Amino acid sequence: MFDKILIANRGEIALRVIRACREMGIQSVAVHSTADADAMHVRMADEAICIGPPPSTESYLNVASIIAACEVTGAQAIHPGYGFLSENANFVQIIQDHDLTFIGPTAEHIRVMGDKITAKDTMKALGVPCVPGSDGGVPDLASAKRIGEEIGYPVIIKATAGGGGRGMKVAQTAADMESAFMTARAEGKSNFGNDEVYIEKYLTTPRHIEIQVFGDGKGNAVHLGERDCSLQRRHQKVFEEAPGPAISAEERAAIGKTCADAVAKIDYIGAGTIEFLYENGEFYFIEMNTRLQVEHPVTEAIFGVDLVREQIRVAEGLPMSFTQDDLTINGHAIEVRINAERLPNFAPCPGRITQYHAPGGLGVRMDSALYDGYSIPPFYDSLIGKLIVHGRDRPEALARLNRALGELIVDGVDTTVPLFHALLEEEAVQAGSYNIHWLEHWLETNLAEG
Ligand code: ADP
Repeated sequence: MFDKILIANRGEIALRVIRACREMGIQSVAVHSTADADAMHVRMADEAICIGPPPSTESYLNVASIIAACEVTGAQAIHPGYGFLSENANFVQIIQDHDLTFIGPTAEHIRVMGDKITAKDTMKALGVPCVPGSDGGVPDLASAKRIGEEIGYPVIIKATAGGGGRGMKVAQTAADMESAFMTARAEGKSNFGNDEVYIEKYLTTPRHIEIQVFGDGKGNAVHLGERDCSLQRRHQKVFEEAPGPAISAEERAAIGKTCADAVAKIDYIGAGTIEFLYENGEFYFIEMNTRLQVEHPVTEAIFGVDLVREQIRVAEGLPMSFTQDDLTINGHAIEVRINAERLPNFAPCPGRITQYHAPGGLGVRMDSALYDGYSIPPFYDSLIGKLIVHGRDRPEALARLNRALGELIVDGVDTTVPLFHALLEEEAVQAGSYNIHWLEHWLETNLAEG
């Protein structure tokens, strides 16, 4: 059993992990940059250690300092949160070389899923449905054109090493192929140091549906249903819900089983998310995230489980505390991501919080590292809180979200809260009838800059 866990992260997710540790009787160690000396995760952890200057490359991504912090404090395991080093296979390898435990999947699984072509090949072989497209990398423009004709336009050209929505270009017709192919390649090269690209059928009106899976690393795995994260801006999720309003119980059981079986076969350990585009009743795999997701609380709400506690358990070699049969859905949950950003152009808005009041009451969870007088540093992500509501059904969850947003006070900086007030007025949001392009269109018509 672990006595002490180091959390290689900051902000709300560091608090999330500290809370799980405390409930399990495990000591927690926070690491922080000099810019975060007054941060909430530093105050809440049992111990805290400074690992470097403000830029994350010199602190939260500084592997040597993090390993040294483990040695100094006697922490036996590292929880990476999301972002930063959470999907870095080399980091996992180094942790193991120091006889420490990484709370997450193996370096090998991270590596396989981190390369989009290998991930797709692996999933295909495991029986997971994929978007029709090229078999692996596409070497040159002539092959790209041939594949475009074969699968039919529109198509999307993606950098194998791409991420965060970068390195992807759509070709609506054959005439667009040359520029789309060249641009995707150039972006792959300049952003990720790899110019390999592949081609997929471009789905025009899909939803983003992701399946939460969990494995014990010994051939057992379960699924915890889906999350619908279709409301996105620039491929970044802003509003997530579970269960998905468009997914039937039969569809959930079928795709859930496919995903659980797939990860069981590879002895996957810990939490993972298999992301799909969903159109006309079909699921198309796009990528797997080998970590805890930002939006995991909506799944926790409807299943009544603590996914971080479960991650720690399996990392210790213990079995999962539930089986597939134990996992039943109760009600509906919605999360909104509250960013310190100024509308309408979502410009980051760091600064001092003069007043903070978190909403409460039945079915309300506020995951945030804010406090009165806190200064949001300009160096990191603009996410300052996640408001999660849970109701007996979707209408109740929506009403609760509206009520909770009304109670929330964040003074001193601009936030994305007004966006959610406006979205809740929209019929498409009330009906849950949106696809991945809906929010971008809505923003263009309703929040035009200027
Ligand atoms: P990244 O790793 O950069 O996030 P993904 O492969 O997960 O890239 O794709 C990001 C987003 O791009 C998806 O959520 C979806 O909005 C869009 N997308 C990706 N592939 C397709 C496709 N074949 N058809 C339509 N949209 C796509």
